[in-house]
Amino acid sequence: MTDKPIYVTQPALPPLEEFIPYLQQIWDNKILTNCGPFHQQLELALAEYLGVKYISLFANATLALVTALQALRITGDVITTPYSFVATAHSLKWNGIRPIFVDIDPKTCNLDPAAIEAAITPQTTAIMPVHVYGTPCDVEAIQRIAENYNLKVIYDAAHAFGCKVNGQSLCSFGDISVVSFHATKVFNTFEGGAIICQDAKTKAHIDHLKNFGFVDETTVVAAGINGKMSEINAAFGMLQLKHIDAAIAKRAQISKFYNERLRFVRGISILQDNLTHESNYSYFPILVDADYPITRDALYNQFREKNIMARRYFYPLISEFPMYRGLPSATARLLPNAKEISSRVICLPLHPHLEEAELEKVMSVIVECARKPVTKRAIRN
Ligand SMILES: *Cc1c(COP(=O)(O)O)cnc(C)c1O
Repeated sequence: MTDKPIYVTQPALPPLEEFIPYLQQIWDNKILTNCGPFHQQLELALAEYLGVKYISLFANATLALVTALQALRITGDVITTPYSFVATAHSLKWNGIRPIFVDIDPKTCNLDPAAIEAAITPQTTAIMPVHVYGTPCDVEAIQRIAENYNLKVIYDAAHAFGCKVNGQSLCSFGDISVVSFHATKVFNTFEGGAIICQDAKTKAHIDHLKNFGFVDETTVVAAGINGKMSEINAAFGMLQLKHIDAAIAKRAQISKFYNERLRFVRGISILQDNLTHESNYSYFPILVDADYPITRDALYNQFREKNIMARRYFYPLISEFPMYRGLPSATARLLPNAKEISSRVICLPLHPHLEEAELEKVMSVIVECARKPVTKRAIRN
């Protein structure tokens, strides 16, 4: 067991025999896709579970983001965050939209509303914020800015499944929110995602867009795409829903363990300290401070040596990838908070299958490194 790799995440999988009856139904009815019975069931079940009205399932969240932008006919410039998974900006680029990167609030790691407002120009058409690690963006401030400047808001809520603020689903904000059901996310359908929108008309339009633009057998109303979730993924989602609360509860326990143990380690800050929202405990990001004896990357390497696959989410910044770094808004000087957090963050292993001994092993690396003599060069600033 000591040599078994400890991954930052592993998918929650229910017992295989529980999935067989679902497969049997698919084999019996021979409906594999095209919004069949499991697809319909899962849309209803997720609307209920998440507490949202209109949801449209997708093959993955990236296609959902691309389609959301099409549905709202977004063009021109869209303000977004450099501190996210690369698909956020890619969805803009696939629509010929120019991402405008603005800085984050170092406390939440989410877009700073003041920075959003300062970046608005006549070319700006929308804002695409991300609820990073499931931590809520300042949804009220963003809503106010959107109303004042007549901008659309598309939330990349890929991390936000099941999160709530003041009792309200974090996936219910903006004109559109997009969730991911990728294998690495809290709720997975192997691959999958969904668009959550605010009215039946928009949902109908999105449903057409994800099926080539077909409205009926002979009518095509838009240059749509094939973004549909298949029946096997939807069936798996129905089964996963039965286990999701237990999986989130296990994650909460592990987060509590890390919280209690890390509180006393000098030089380590817990990013999501004092949560004020209902979390899904999807990630456990920590920051390596200036008074920790070794750098973030040295700690990362120590983990690797012990076969612990902690991950640097999010490093590098999206704005540092070759297809974006030439943009004026990608200049590091303009993104000091994102740059700083990206250089200090590391996400600890967190998933429902982790055992106590594995958690102790993760902690022992952090604690042992904390006792080392200081060897690193002073961190910038
Ligand atoms: C995972 C993720 C996506 C992409 O989701 P897929 O379902 O894998 O396409 C987009 N944005 C963020 C922030 C993510 O973490």
